[in-house]
Amino acid sequence: MLLIPCPHCGPRPETEFVYGGDARVKRPDPSNSSDEQWAAYIYERENPKGQHQELWLHSAGCHLWLIIERDTVTHAIGSVRAAREDQQ
Ligand SMILES: [Zn+2]
Repeated sequence: MLLIPCPHCGPRPETEFVYGGDARVKRPDPSNSSDEQWAAYIYERENPKGQHQELWLHSAGCHLWLIIERDTVTHAIGSVRAAREDQQ
């Protein structure tokens, strides 16, 4: 089981979180994007081996969306930050 260090609540078991997908995927601009760009946004995902940035929601805690850097081989967690910090 992963122990995820929520910046607001501290270390918590992964059962308190919901996985939200690849944190690097950016939504295309609806006014200036093709059908192919939308299809890629919706369906195409990488399956990386090693470091990966993921979105996780602390659904049983503070309800904060987090961006977690996790190694997909060892499950070691690197940096953890609130996703809203990327929007500023
Ligand atoms: Zn939390």
